[in-house]
Amino acid sequence: ATPLALSVGVGQAARRGIYVKHDDVLEALAQVSWVVFDKTGTLTRGEMAVTDVVGSAEAVQLAAALESQSNHPIARALAAELDAQKLRERVGGLQNLRDILSDTVEHAGKGIEGVVGGRKICVGKPDWIAETAVSSFSVDEAVAQMTGRGHTPVAISVDGKLEAVVGIGDPIRDESAKFLRELERRGVQPVILSGDHPEVVAHVASELGIDARFAHGGVSPEGKAAFVSDLRERQQQDASGGRIAMVGDGVNDAAALQAADIGIAVDGGAEASLVAADVFMTRPGLEPVYELIEGSHRVMKVVH
Ligand code: ADP
Ligand code: MG
Repeated sequence: ATPLALSVGVGQAARRGIYVKHDDVLEALAQVSWVVFDKTGTLTRGEMAVTDVVGSAEAVQLAAALESQSNHPIARALAAELDAQKLRERVGGLQNLRDILSDTVEHAGKGIEGVVGGRKICVGKPDWIAETAVSSFSVDEAVAQMTGRGHTPVAISVDGKLEAVVGIGDPIRDESAKFLRELERRGVQPVILSGDHPEVVAHVASELGIDARFAHGGVSPEGKAAFVSDLRERQQQDASGGRIAMVGDGVNDAAALQAADIGIAVDGGAEASLVAADVFMTRPGLEPVYELIEGSHRVMKVVH
């Protein structure tokens, strides 16, 4: 490979909002045969909104206050429900939001916990909440209804009691399906790996025309990295095996971005994802990802 052609390729990419950290990335990308995608914020818009509420409205307000401390797309959807007036009436004597929040800890791929107005609040994956909270009502039916419609269920516990489940809807990006088809035409197999509920992931995969065999939900951050490492090992044993790219945006994707041959952080990604990736984007959606792979094919043709 001539370094000049690669540098020209890197420069061209940068003008299109695609930042390649080192020259050899293009060479590896031209041999990609699997692209593993994170779902939330990558294939979907990550502009989530609360679609259903089952249970206590007060718990939702306390959760909204806690989530104002987080940048996760789910947190932003819940924080938008915050009504300071309502919270004041319900919890009483509240001054500044900042003064009533303490001990906030976010758990990547699970949820967030903290103290709000003296109450211990946990918000996150129903399975994770169930590990520490007793259920005051049966949530299985509410959860099944939400996931059946492709909405992500988020549970809220207050002082160790499960008090509410909210459904969060996240529209699929309009252009995701089109670029997935373009990648398939170039011999690339897309895979979805997500920490979200498996039913929700199955719903999104079917909307995007991805076979259920290549869509996995309920995957932890470590699980994402292990999946990518395993796939990479299998590809390396196979003489004709291609490279693995991972595309993600979250703190929960950082280890998998590192484990892949090429890590790609999409626009708006968390700082940890930008640091772990070999390439990062400043344009939203899958178009720059497609342009990057297509461009790498073009550059390598010139080089050889
Ligand atoms: P993805 O892999 O699709 O990007 P994440 O790994 O970021 O999803 O999140 C997985 C799951 O963890 C979410 O579907 C949600 O249930 C829960 N979760 C993570 N962070 C939060 C948070 N700040 N508030 C509520 N739930 C959260
Ligand atoms: Mg994500």
